[in-house]
Amino acid sequence: MSGPRLRDDLGDLEGYHSPQVDVAVRLNTNESPYPPPPEFFEAWTAAVSGSAAHRYPDRAAISLRSALGGFLGQPTERVFCANGSNEVLQTLLLGYGGPGRTALVFEPSYVLHAHIARITGTGVVTGERQPDFRLDPAAAVRLVEEVEPDVIFLTTPNNPTGMVEPRETVEALLERIAARSKPGLLVIDEAYAEFSPWTAIDVVADGVPLVVVRTYSKVWSMAAFRLGFCIAPAAVVADLEKVVLPYHLSVPTQLAGTVALRFTGEMGARVASIKTERDRVGAALAALDGVEPFPSGANFILFRSTDGQATWEGLLRAGVLVRNFARWPRLDNCLRVTIGRPEENDAFLAAMKEVLAA
Ligand SMILES: *Cc1c(COP(=O)(O)O)cnc(C)c1O
Repeated sequence: MSGPRLRDDLGDLEGYHSPQVDVAVRLNTNESPYPPPPEFFEAWTAAVSGSAAHRYPDRAAISLRSALGGFLGQPTERVFCANGSNEVLQTLLLGYGGPGRTALVFEPSYVLHAHIARITGTGVVTGERQPDFRLDPAAAVRLVEEVEPDVIFLTTPNNPTGMVEPRETVEALLERIAARSKPGLLVIDEAYAEFSPWTAIDVVADGVPLVVVRTYSKVWSMAAFRLGFCIAPAAVVADLEKVVLPYHLSVPTQLAGTVALRFTGEMGARVASIKTERDRVGAALAALDGVEPFPSGANFILFRSTDGQATWEGLLRAGVLVRNFARWPRLDNCLRVTIGRPEENDAFLAAMKEVLAA
């Protein structure tokens, strides 16, 4: 019997892998090392207990969207929520990508942009960054002129490099899109915004072809909940609501997002302590011979080691798991460490010294 055959255009598609190995110190997926406070769980479970489980959720997720809008200084109509920012990205591509359309990505960056584009039948054009992972704004603008992509992805701070894109680059790209006759959309993935010095959210306005995507997974310590959102012109949000499956966002998820916003002080404190640790780990890495850390505006640090693969294996033997990019194009010998609790970061730094000395 022959089994079903994956769509021809997806024949060589690889799944998303980030190996999960059971070790003492896991610093490979950019999660927060701190769970939300116990009071969050009390308030959330109480809200879930009081909800009408036999009814469908509010399709428009009005409470959550208005609470988020209030928190971010944006009207409810400019907020769209989904199951993780990955579903936001998928919905954007279902709506604005698809067969005959193209998405532009600047590599190296978050692999799921190109991956989801392909799954939705969207053509992918790859722009290059400079060897130090900076984006040359003039070259980026030229490429937008040349390719006329329907969707442009920009991640800031970028994953896996940690690099913060300057506001001028965003403005230059927006100007370029606005100046041409063919419509287009700039999607800024700000999964790490709270760790970084600036956000593009205040550039979002009706009539501006800009969407800013955020997630509860990192900053809000809620990766397990799968909740993400974007801030976009009201017309774009209306389009996304047409494309996404009805009732896609469960009541427990909607409630979790709303209740979390009552704990912004705790979130801010977690972010502040992670930033302090990031700067400490960055300085310690820079002091090691044969290690080159890249500046980061996120909760992780990319670094290049003389023999990245050997360093990754050595760290693993020492019980520390980091993300291995050593054999990836453009990222040769690079590893990415997520900032953890101080004692986890100490264990990572001690293991680094041990591995480099061996
Ligand atoms: C972690 C991450 C996400 C998060 O995706 P979720 O589906 O919200 O968990 C999105 N974009 C980037 C660049 C990330 O690094």
